[in-house]
Amino acid sequence: MIHNRIGTKLGIWMMTLFFIVIFFLSIAIDRIFSNFHQTEMTSNVNEMTSHFVMMAASPVNTSDHSLDAFADFSEVSIFIINQKGAVTAHSGEHDPTDHSFIRKKDVQSIFSGDTVNFTHKDPNGNRYIVSGMVVPASEGNPDPDQAMYVLASTDHMDESISRMRTLLLMSGIGAMLLALGITWISAQILSRPLLQMQRATRKIAVGDLETRLPVQSKDEIGLLAEAINDLAKDLQRYRDTRQEFFANISHELRTPITYLEGYAKVVKEKLYTSEEEKDKYLDIIQEEASRLQRLVNDLFELAKMEEGKISLSLEWIDLTDIVRSSIRKMEWKVNEKGLVMRGSYDEEIPLIVGDGLRMEQIILNMLDNAIRYTDQGDIRVHLHKGSKHVTITIEDTGIGIAEEELPYLFDRFYRVEKSRSRQHGGTGLGLSIVKKLVELQGGTIKVRSQAGVGTRFDITFPLPERQEKQE
Ligand code: ADP
Repeated sequence: MIHNRIGTKLGIWMMTLFFIVIFFLSIAIDRIFSNFHQTEMTSNVNEMTSHFVMMAASPVNTSDHSLDAFADFSEVSIFIINQKGAVTAHSGEHDPTDHSFIRKKDVQSIFSGDTVNFTHKDPNGNRYIVSGMVVPASEGNPDPDQAMYVLASTDHMDESISRMRTLLLMSGIGAMLLALGITWISAQILSRPLLQMQRATRKIAVGDLETRLPVQSKDEIGLLAEAINDLAKDLQRYRDTRQEFFANISHELRTPITYLEGYAKVVKEKLYTSEEEKDKYLDIIQEEASRLQRLVNDLFELAKMEEGKISLSLEWIDLTDIVRSSIRKMEWKVNEKGLVMRGSYDEEIPLIVGDGLRMEQIILNMLDNAIRYTDQGDIRVHLHKGSKHVTITIEDTGIGIAEEELPYLFDRFYRVEKSRSRQHGGTGLGLSIVKKLVELQGGTIKVRSQAGVGTRFDITFPLPERQEKQE
């Protein structure tokens, strides 16, 4: 039961609540019934008393004998008293020597015309409802010095109240048992998913990230289970990508290092036949060293971005200037490959908020890719102004990218054609860095491509509010 504590606590609370409600409800029902019986009986006894009084005062001579018969028949006792309170006549079962119910104060009120009602307990412990009335002087009763007490035993009433109490007690116990059952079931229903979650989170904590919880409801408990499942999925994805990332890094580092080691050995041990061959090996060593440097730089940059440690110096920047100067910087590469690069600009491109150097890094990287993966044709760069955005489009007529590769293009270390990209000196990190830098400045990047036809990248940045209003 210890591991089911929330269920126990909940159960105790619910049972206490049930008990309090049932307890007070029973007391209230008991009071209502008892008072009802008491009032009912008192009014019956009063009615009977006035009836007997009328009989006693009736001009038709009612004998003591017939009063006796009525008293017996109605199971009551009758006491006739005078103004002094002395009993002058008696009939019925009640002990005739017990006069303790005749009180001076009551006798006075009775003879002044009031009806007196009370409950009396005789020396043997029997209870009676007592009603006292004066017998008015009349033709049949010329004696004005007479009053009548009628005593009705409460045995029948007490019996029915006690039956009602037994019934109340039984139904109270029944209700408590039912409540106990309901409480137990609802405590189980509530605590079972919580215990499941506790077990699942423990499993997740020790690395069993395949653990999933069944989501059986749309309430808070269901939402919590869903959140735990999402957490497990995220952790799993994070673990997998981290493993993949480290595997990729070691692979990427190993290749240039193998080249460096191999060719350095060839040169050191003079395993070449001519000076030109030696120069060729030294060129390879230089190329691999600079690739290694690029890779380390890119990795460092990416790590900083992922940790959120990169700080942008945001200012108002002119995209037209940045695109123009980037194209100029790439001119020699374009000429070297015998390509053509053209820039076109919409009029009055508004300033946007961004980091000038990072923006240039993005554009240089995109232009570098376009040149790298285009063997003939031209590269077009267009700066377009929309109502709420400004878009830089870089379009080439290069080798293109197959459609199924596009979703992974911005993943770290993703290369469409591994050997070709390596041969072009790429690290497979360029586009993921570009995407992060674009997003850090509030922009988006989209790609459209067709293998063998060309590739188009659209980088869009929102215009700041001030600029939008100016339009
Ligand atoms: P890399 O440093 O290898 O170029 P990127 O992240 O910049 O890495 O690009 C990822 C891959 O996307 C590249 O290996 C290349 O196959 C493909 N790619 C990028 N730009 C282009 C383009 N303009 N035309 C064709 N393929 C491209």
